This record gives sequence, C-alpha cells and structure tokens, in this order.
Amino acid sequence: MTVVIRNVLLLRIARCILIASPLCTVEASTSVAQNVAPPPVVATHPPVQPVAQPTAHPAEDLFLRLGKVGLDPARVYHVRDAHIDRPGLYLTLEDGTIGFTQDILGRATGALFEGEGEVLVFPPDRAERSSLALFTGSAILEEKISFGYVRFNDGTYEDLKPHLKPTADATAFLSKWTTQAPDWAAADAFRLLETYAALLPSSEPSHEPAREARQDRILHSRLFGAKLGAFDIFYDSLSAEQVQVLQLTQAEGGSYYDIWMSFTPKARGSDPTLPQEVGPDAFEIPSYKIQARITPPHRLEAEATCDLHIVREGQRALLFELSRYLLVTGVEASGEPLEFIHNPSVTGSQLARQGNDMVAVVFPRTLKAGERITLKFTYGGDVLSEEANGLLAVGARGTWYPNRGLRMANFDLVFAYPPEWTLLATGTRTGADEIRPDNARPNATRPDGAPLTPEELHSRWISSRPVPVAGFNLGRYVKATAKAGSVLVEAYATGEMGLAAPKVAPGLASAPGKNLPDSSRPIPPFSDPSSPARNVQVVADRAADAVTFFAERFGSYPYGSLALTQAPGPVSQGWPGLVFLSGYAFLSPEELASRNLRPADSILARQTPAHETAHQWWGDLVPWKSYRDQWISEGLASYCALLELEPEDPAAFRLVLDNYRDDLLQKKGDRRMSEAGAVTLGQRLNSSRFPLGYDLIAYGRGAWLFHMLRQMLRDDATLASQHSKSASPPSNPDALFMKILLSVQEKYAGKSLSTRELLDEFAARWPKSLWFEGKPSLGWFADSWIQGTSVPIMELKNAKILHPKDATSATGTIVQRDAPYDLITPVPLYAEVPGKPLVLLGRIFADGPETTFHLRVPPGTRKILLDPQATLLRQR
Ligand SMILES: [Zn+2]
Repeated sequence: MTVVIRNVLLLRIARCILIASPLCTVEASTSVAQNVAPPPVVATHPPVQPVAQPTAHPAEDLFLRLGKVGLDPARVYHVRDAHIDRPGLYLTLEDGTIGFTQDILGRATGALFEGEGEVLVFPPDRAERSSLALFTGSAILEEKISFGYVRFNDGTYEDLKPHLKPTADATAFLSKWTTQAPDWAAADAFRLLETYAALLPSSEPSHEPAREARQDRILHSRLFGAKLGAFDIFYDSLSAEQVQVLQLTQAEGGSYYDIWMSFTPKARGSDPTLPQEVGPDAFEIPSYKIQARITPPHRLEAEATCDLHIVREGQRALLFELSRYLLVTGVEASGEPLEFIHNPSVTGSQLARQGNDMVAVVFPRTLKAGERITLKFTYGGDVLSEEANGLLAVGARGTWYPNRGLRMANFDLVFAYPPEWTLLATGTRTGADEIRPDNARPNATRPDGAPLTPEELHSRWISSRPVPVAGFNLGRYVKATAKAGSVLVEAYATGEMGLAAPKVAPGLASAPGKNLPDSSRPIPPFSDPSSPARNVQVVADRAADAVTFFAERFGSYPYGSLALTQAPGPVSQGWPGLVFLSGYAFLSPEELASRNLRPADSILARQTPAHETAHQWWGDLVPWKSYRDQWISEGLASYCALLELEPEDPAAFRLVLDNYRDDLLQKKGDRRMSEAGAVTLGQRLNSSRFPLGYDLIAYGRGAWLFHMLRQMLRDDATLASQHSKSASPPSNPDALFMKILLSVQEKYAGKSLSTRELLDEFAARWPKSLWFEGKPSLGWFADSWIQGTSVPIMELKNAKILHPKDATSATGTIVQRDAPYDLITPVPLYAEVPGKPLVLLGRIFADGPETTFHLRVPPGTRKILLDPQATLLRQR
C-alpha cells in the first residue's frame, strides 16, 4: 500500500482538505452546523481593478502568474511589531525585513520576511494536542521564527503598512531572495485562482463581489522555526478545517506531510471534546451520466456529464478531483466551451512536475447560489494495467470521473469494452449487453495474433439509489454465483494473483472497504501455484452468508446485487454492489498458511469478503461525514466481520481482537503504535512517525471501540436479567447494541454520519446502569477513548470482602496506569463464588488513576475480579 503523500495544493484546495483519498474526505451535504463557525471576518479588499487586456486564456494566464510571482523590488521595507492574526493563530513579525510580491490584478498576494518573529497556535482538543505533541514534543505551538513566506488574498498588505519603514537592506535582501521567491509561489496558485477568478473579465456587468466571496480569506505561511525547522501554517476561512499546521518530512518509505494540527476554532458553547463539524460544500453534484470506452490493457476514454447545484454565492472557478493520468480535452456548459486548467496546460511548471489530481473549471461569469448547471467533461488516459493474465489493475479508481470526494450522487454509466473481457460496475445492470461494431479498433488481434471480431459490448449500469462513489472492474474471469435470499452474489477471479497495487496517485488509493490483511510485512512473491479462480465459489458463498447475516441485523441489502471481483495487490475495497477483492481473500487456508502469515492475519484474509460486504451498509449506504469519521466505517466493518465469525469460531474472534490490541502495544522506537493518534485523525495517522498508523488505529482501535460499547450494553442486559424474577441469562444480550446500529442505518442511510451523530444515537438509548454522573451522554467515551490514544493498565488494589461471615460487601480501588490522569472507564467487576459461575457485580466508572468502590456482593464471595472477560482495550 502506497503511503500517503499529498501535495500542499491538494491539501488546501479541495474543500475536503486533508490528505488521503478524495473518498475519505466527505463533508456534510446538508444540515450541518454552519452556525458554529467563528464570526465572519470581513476582509478589507482594495478596490477591484479589471484586467486590462483580455487574452485567449485569461484564467490560465492568471493561474500561471499567481504560481510564479516574484518579489517587487520597489516594496522592500523594515517591519517592526506587526501582527498577522487569524482565528486560532497568531503570527508576530517583531523586527526584520519584508518584501512584497509583484502586484497581480493590482494586488499584493504575498510577502517574504526575514528577521525575528514568533508564531503561536493553540490546539483545541485532546486529539489535536497529542498530535502536536507527537511531532513537536509540546502541546502548544510557540516557536521563534527567522523566516516566513506568506500568501494571502485579503488586505494583509494594507494591514501591515503602518508597521513598515524604508530600509537600507533592500539590495542585500533582494539579491538573496529574488531568484528563490517564485519557486514558493506555485503551491497556492489554485487556491488564489479560486479567489481572483472573480476579477477576470466577465460576460456579465461587473458588480461587487458577493458577501460570501468577501469572506474568502486565506493566509498560507511557510515558516522557518528555531527549533522545529521549516513548517507550514494555513488559515482558510472557506476550508472544512480552517487552521492547519503541517511539515514535509522525509522518513522511511518516502516523504510525508505530517499534519501537526487541523481544526476550526471552537465556537463558544460548542462540545469541547469532539472537533467542529464541517459545513456544506461549495457545490454539489447530484447526478452523473458517464459514457466510457475501455480498451484493455491501458486505455480509458470518457465523457462525463455532471449536474451541478451551486451552493456558495460568487464563485467563478470550480475545482474537481480528477486523476492526473487523464488528459482533459474539453469542458462544456450547455454546449459552450469553458476554460479549464489541468496538468498539461502548465507544462514545465512545478505543478506539472509534481502532478496533481485537480481540474479547475472557470466560468465566464459569477455563479449564483441555487443555480443549476450541466457540465460535460471529455477526457482520456492510460489508467489501467494488466498485472497478470486477464487481471487488470484499475488505476484512478476513485478519480476516473470529476468529483468532489465521497458525495452521494446518482450514476448512469455506459461502458463500451471488448467482448473477451467481463465488466462489472456499481449500480444495476440494465438488460443484456448490446453488441455493436467496434469502430475504434477495426484491425484488432487476439493475444495469439488471430484476428479479433471488431465488435464491442455496451453495458449500462444505473444506481438504484444515490451512492458515494461509482466505479468498474474488468478482467477475464471465472465466475461463481450464490444467493442470499433474493440477492444475487457473484464472485469473479482469474487463475493468477498479480502483485501490483493499482496505479494511482500517491495517497489516493484508499476508499471505503480498504483492508490490508498483512500490510505490515513484505508480501511473498506470487511465484507459487495459488489460483484465486480455484476458490471463487467459496468467496461467493462467504459473501452470501455475510449478506444474510448483516441484512438480518442492519436492514435489507441496499443494492440490487453484489459482485466481488478480483483485484491485484493486497488492498480490497467495498464499493456499492461492487467489491475489488484482493487475491488474498480467494486463497484457501492451506495457501494462506504457506505464506507465513500470522494466524490472526490468515483469519482476517479469509474474513475480507465479510468485511467488504459489511461496507455495503457501513461506508456505502451510510458514508462517513469527514475524514475524521472514516474510522466508524473501518471499525464497524472490521467488527461486523468478527460478529459474523464469533458464533462459529469464538476462539478466532478472540484471537483477532487480541491481535489488534497487541499490534497497538507494539513499540516503534520509544513509542507504542497506539500513540500514532486518535481514531478521529483519519488518514493523518499515516505519518513519518507511524507510516502504517491508519491501519492499526482505524481498524484495530476502531473495532475495539465498538467491542467496548457492545460489551457495556451486554453487561446492562445481564444485570437486568439478574434482577428479574427468573434470574436466567438474557436470551439476546446483543439486542440493544444491534437495535442502536439499526437505528443509525435507518437515520443516516443515504446521508453521512459523524462521530458525534453516532454517539448521540447510542446516548439516546444508553441504559441507566451505564450513565456517568447521572447523564446518558457519552461525552466521557468521546474524550477518553475516541479522542484518546491510551491502552491503559488496569488493576485492583486493596480489594477486601467485608463481614467475612456473611460476605455481603466488598471494597477496593481500581487503578488505571499508563493512562492520562483524567481517563474515564466503566470497569466491570465480578464476584468469584466457589462452585458457581462468575457473577457480574456491575460497572464502576474508574475516573483517573485511583477510584475506590464499595459494592454489595453475593454471600460466599471469595474474590473480586476486574474485567475477566477482557471487554476493555487495556494491557493484559
Ligand atoms: Zn474496510
């Protein structure tokens, strides 16, 4: 699995900020608390100056100027006691020299500072504090700086003017920095284009920028700190998380953007534990029609027609994610060509060298909120490769059509492809494939050189309900089918494993359904005779069993059918109705054993069909709201696969859970893997310190968090039955846990789910025996366990049975060690009575390092036991 490296451009440009897959970075589509954003800052824009001379490509020209602007020799000053403050961050230029960049559209958009300064940023919650501490050793950022390169789109220059004086150092300053300054400009060109496109010549009479446009403020500072070296601080008023501090770091496996902090300053009165939730996107794409021609083994050509719904007033440049390997040849709105910016238009620039996965579309006028527009993109490129005989890697899997990340949309897909291949896609196949003359390749030949019938198949796939992502897979497959009630489940595999991971942009490989059965160790070479095709029926049957198991608990299967299709490499992804399944998942226990996997990893490999099937509900039907909530999908899919395993093999269930815990406790240097960060950091967890942090935390800790919630609810059911007349064990101790998950599905199907919303659903039904401080709120769980990173040691101290003759009560102290001082844990205590099964006494909230208790216990109690069934994520 490729590690996450994503250029700053992408990080900042997409509203979906942050790292990793565009598919991991969903934001709220509706109803999210815009009202929790800090008070709007009204920027002091200078007067608008129209562009003097229109050119054939005004947006591209503007983009190129923004991306290579240099210093203005006439504007170098001495600066003293100047403050550049934004909500949540404070930058002070105490004493030094500052040079501003040349005007673009009559504005200064940047400055370079050398001298003495300081920066201060306070992270707002536990997860961000521990993230910052991981990278810097301190829970606040307070750093002396000697250099800063800043870009802005507001009145920063005007604000600084009162602090500027002429300087005698201008010549030396310019000779030192003039050549280098343009190199730093490219990183913000896309984002500045978004702002300044509004000033390009318009097809409509010019007017004042809309209110929202005036609140568009960015400040990107590239700083050099005395202790921390070079790092970047972004403020972006329109971004999902307005303040972000990161550092480009070289480490094992390549380069990383370590994100030290990312947050929106909290509004007064908001929840102090979890991050601010994100607001609506700048525009929505409710539906797509895509016609694609696939010519294996490499080529994809497509026309994608997208219906757009404009949300934010005043935009002229809209940004889409699209693979850098696809060349856009045209973008039209209602038949009129639009200017667009994609890699090839900036040949030779830093952008082209880095590559990117963005396309900007620039409109000839300002767009209005509520407007509906239809855009047609025409593009093509080599995004496929044949990794083994008949086994294709579909690269650009999530960026083969222009999108805004993981968002609900309806898809109408038509694929043309050669008849010797089998194609599966998301959605429901409409009727039989049509056979048409293949005009694109009249002289095609088979691999053996024989002439090929110049025909192609056309198949059409329509989504039966909005889905967060659409895609396809094709190969020369062997097929097996199974039924889960009325749901058709198909598995498709080839006779070879194939080694390569899909060719995708770094950091773009992940999606709902990613599962790495063995990502931490090198993959053995596939020179053995393993054949996924041989076990294809087993996979179909396993997935059908999983569909049945989950449908009984989480509501009926959401899509028409389910196809599990082999994909090369170790990564699997569960998309709506279509699973890309690693060859590992097709291997028999014997074949897996021959690969020297740990026993738990072999179990996980065989569980992959169930894990990916669980994503049909958790991830596809109910997607995560932002990258911070992706752990819900991975934790739940992992845990649901275990739930299915538990009745048939409880020892395997336990082994996998214990393995997740042991992996978290493994040391990397002087730190435990659990210290990679909180589950809510999402793919930020893959950092230079912990290149595989995301897998261990989102899957391992994520599954454990659901295990803890479930076990608390089981204990409540047990206590209730102990107090009932029959005193028999509960017939279905998981009833409440399953009921809550079903209610989450019913409430959030077709929407998206945040961590806060998930916890609210649990709190709404949280039983009184588990209330903390007299309240059903799970704020303590959010703060201690979801935002926390610890795997504590828990022990009993001074446990005593009082009145030894009748043994009616017990006292003692619960000790939490290797844990934050304020960790809160509901600890189950049991009584050991000779000749009887263990008796659950209840859950005691351990609050901090030591918590004393005094409990009634059954007569004859010999001993008090702490969590003998290992229901808590703790060291053993
Ligand atoms: Zn998954």
